[in-house]
Amino acid sequence: MKRFFVVLVSLTLAALFAAAYAAPPQQAPANATTVIEGARVIDSVSNAAIENAVIVIQGDRIRAIGARASVQIPANARTVNMAGKTIMPGIVNVHGHIGRRNGMQYGPEHYSKQTVQRDANSYLYFGITHATSLGQDWPPMKEVIRDQRAGRAGGARLYTGEFGFSIEGGMQNANPSIHKPKTVEEARQMVQAMAANKPLDFIKLWVDGNPKMDLNVAGAAIEEADRQGLKSYVHLSQVEDARKLIEHGLDSMAHIPRDKELDDAFVRLAKEKGVTQTTNLIGLYGGRIYLQPTYLSHPGMRVMFSDVIGTINTPQWLGEQTARPPNQANLEAYDRAVRNLLKLHAAGVPIVIGSDSGSVGQFPGVWEHLDLELLVRAGLSPMEGIKAATINGARLLGVGDRYGSLEVGKVADFVVMNSNPLTDIKNTMDISAVWMNGQEVNRATLPVNTSSNN
Ligand SMILES: [Zn+2]
Repeated sequence: MKRFFVVLVSLTLAALFAAAYAAPPQQAPANATTVIEGARVIDSVSNAAIENAVIVIQGDRIRAIGARASVQIPANARTVNMAGKTIMPGIVNVHGHIGRRNGMQYGPEHYSKQTVQRDANSYLYFGITHATSLGQDWPPMKEVIRDQRAGRAGGARLYTGEFGFSIEGGMQNANPSIHKPKTVEEARQMVQAMAANKPLDFIKLWVDGNPKMDLNVAGAAIEEADRQGLKSYVHLSQVEDARKLIEHGLDSMAHIPRDKELDDAFVRLAKEKGVTQTTNLIGLYGGRIYLQPTYLSHPGMRVMFSDVIGTINTPQWLGEQTARPPNQANLEAYDRAVRNLLKLHAAGVPIVIGSDSGSVGQFPGVWEHLDLELLVRAGLSPMEGIKAATINGARLLGVGDRYGSLEVGKVADFVVMNSNPLTDIKNTMDISAVWMNGQEVNRATLPVNTSSNN
């Protein structure tokens, strides 16, 4: 009996796993029309929400959207009443590290198609419809992305920079696959070789560390990426590094430069060159985030992180995280980063949510909401924060023509909330449903348990 039970459980788990892993993206029939009515809609392009809105979806696209009086409701459409709910576009994360966690361990040896898919599912569960993996992606990432883009796999839409660029002995040195060009010419050739091996959405560089990457070599990689139609994302922390790389055409500062205050010339250059500033406030906020772990009681935590929640949600683990409060230098760096971010924002430089999620305790799908909360606490309005979490990221990824806002012609990807994030930004986690490609995602199929032998 006992053995039978074990076999039965194993078979059931295997079946569940296969079903979840193979779950194709929700795709509405091309001619099906759905009308969503009664909700408050934050479209990420207007400056105010649309109250009592109507969204007409045909297939995967938005065909009409606006206040009830302004939209003609087609006959014979399926109608979904969402009175009392608030809808915003799917969240875009432009800085994450996907596929390397296994239980409480984190490292390249755990990377597999299953862990990549698990993280994509966990993002989607919490309303993140676009997730970016920044610079350490082995072949399983491209396999999952190929499956997704061919309609064979679900989860948040993934974007990869494959393996990033650093210097021999510098950051990420332990990874032999990281590109370590010694000359400008070598950097160009490496970018060209990468660009020939699709899918590839951008390149990633690390210019901090000791030794640090030569900025002329980094600049050459950025310029070559631009020639190849690829964006460039750079891990940096110093203002002068950022200034030099922006001159070379850098697209995304993956962290906020914070060794000193930004001067007016920097801010003007950043605006003129069109660089975006990724938030990653939560990374700088450090262990303090565990001092107010209200998100740990979110029901989704138990659903999506069942393999670690029992270890993490204990006084011992949380105590270890919070027993090391940030030192004075870190607190000052955080405040300086906030001031620099606000200067860039005031000048019109796009701010984009990037949470660095993926490692143990930095929950994919949850960290983005907390990063957004810190952004609003820093001084952006909830509406500005939501734009940073949606359309600004879609534009950086080069997919702003299809995703990131709720407008006629765009793909119907959105989050339905029970409460209004414009009155309290924490409400973005009060999720009632997630829609993708014009259909409600079956969130019950998203958990994928990969806590052993991958
Ligand atoms: Zn990172």
